Amino acid sequence: MSTLELISKKEEKKIKTPVKIAVASGDGIGPEIMKASLRILEKAGAEIEPEFIELGEKAYLSGKTAGIDDDAWDIIKKNKVILKAPITTPQGKGYKSLNVTLRKTLGLFANVRPVEAYSPFIPTHFPNMDVVIIRENEEDLYAGIEHRQTQDVYQCLKLITRPGCERIIRYAFEYAKVYHRRKVTCMVKDNIMKITDGLFHKVFDEIALEYPEIENDVQIIDIGSAKLAAQPEDYDVIVTSNLYGDIISDIAAEIGGSVGMCGSSNIGKEVAMFEAIHGSAPDIAGQNRANPSGLLNAAISMLAHIGQPEIGDKIKNAWLCTIEQGYHTADIYREGVSRKKVGTEEFSNIIISNLGRTPNLLKASHIKSGEDSIQIPDYSRKEQHKELVGVDVFLDWKEDDPNKLGFALSKLNIYQLKLKMITNRGVKVYPEGLSETYCTDHWRCRFVSTNAKINKDEPDYKLIDFEHILALQSILHHMGYDVIKTENLYEFDDVRGFSLGQGE
Ligand code: NAD
Repeated sequence: MSTLELISKKEEKKIKTPVKIAVASGDGIGPEIMKASLRILEKAGAEIEPEFIELGEKAYLSGKTAGIDDDAWDIIKKNKVILKAPITTPQGKGYKSLNVTLRKTLGLFANVRPVEAYSPFIPTHFPNMDVVIIRENEEDLYAGIEHRQTQDVYQCLKLITRPGCERIIRYAFEYAKVYHRRKVTCMVKDNIMKITDGLFHKVFDEIALEYPEIENDVQIIDIGSAKLAAQPEDYDVIVTSNLYGDIISDIAAEIGGSVGMCGSSNIGKEVAMFEAIHGSAPDIAGQNRANPSGLLNAAISMLAHIGQPEIGDKIKNAWLCTIEQGYHTADIYREGVSRKKVGTEEFSNIIISNLGRTPNLLKASHIKSGEDSIQIPDYSRKEQHKELVGVDVFLDWKEDDPNKLGFALSKLNIYQLKLKMITNRGVKVYPEGLSETYCTDHWRCRFVSTNAKINKDEPDYKLIDFEHILALQSILHHMGYDVIKTENLYEFDDVRGFSLGQGE
């Protein structure tokens, strides 16, 4: 290749091709704030090419119960980046949450919500607050596996997985590294949920060791949320599971004084989605009153993600200048603090006129490198020896004397499977329960193998077999008991994989 050809190849590389992004204008105030945000992005020189998709109310009402049509899926799968305005979920039965569908279908495992104070321009009790909440987005109680098991008892399964914990916790530490954060705090409730939340805590401790330059800390979620509400300035990055994260990210946004200003990123291995945290605000739709800041902040994170952090900084700084100058939309306008109440359009025009400026008092934006430099390795499962050691059999039993049930079941001896205890709502009621314990119609009867583990090293060794559990269920059924479910009890590399009953 000649020198000239080489030079022209280099020049070619320098000319950026615009990044195609899927854009959903949403419902209510969605189209207004999307139009304003895209205009600001264009004027700032963002190299993007929006492809518009239909999500939300129209799709729902046209019969798509998930709120999204096939064309939209195709564009999302092709472009892998979505900028999404809020949508309205129509009232009534049969409509699924579009957000949950998008997060789960696209594997958007991390929800990242930065909350910053913009004091004194946006009043808050916590002028130095600057917290990022990183929430696991796919698992936990949000798996949506719920059952009614008896007349009185309803159940929701909390699923926590090792790959899910590893991914989100590593993401939190990588985020802290890329964005020069000092500390990652993990919030769990493992004093109660020792196995599920215990796993989250354990994985956090393991991964924290790989980042010695970043401080780490574990807090119980109840006291952690109370402290977050009272002293948010003590926190930097917080990582937690789905439900806790859902709750504390709203607490953080509220006390930061910036519900209308926060954006959030939903990050997956392949696809990422960026949106404001507020809803479609139908009460002010079409009135030029909406604050586009939440969506604009989400778009700034998107620019970092697609490798255009300097444009993100340019927009963020222009936006910070506008906030500092006191041009505020109605939701953040305060008499004596703000200079002028402006509509969506005027607010965007002032941001555009501020492009190239940096704020005087507020901390200027230095995104520098974005989330695209965060690489999460694939999960690799380590082999473990799994051994069946017993079974919890759940009965729907309408009587109320645990001793009667206990005496009857303790007579059974199926292939050395013997009754160990009975619990009701987790509390041991047999043997030696307390008469004060309230019992409902849902009884967990734990049968464990009484075989000695003496032939362990033999290749076909099995303490008990699944057939034994089936035989036990069959006998219970023929005795007239209503078996509503079973849960096998396993040990993994000789470590118990099930919790003990309270009082066991
Ligand atoms: P909302 O956030 O839309 O509105 C709550 C209040 O805040 C309203 O008074 C509204 O006028 C105001 N507000 C919200 N965003 C604003 C903005 N950018 N500028 C100025 N004021 C703003 O919450 P809601 O009323 O409970 O929900 C309305 C609809 O939005 C519902 O259909 C709900 O399902 C949907 N929703 C969607 C999302 C999403 O798409 N991510 C999130 C939450 C709610």
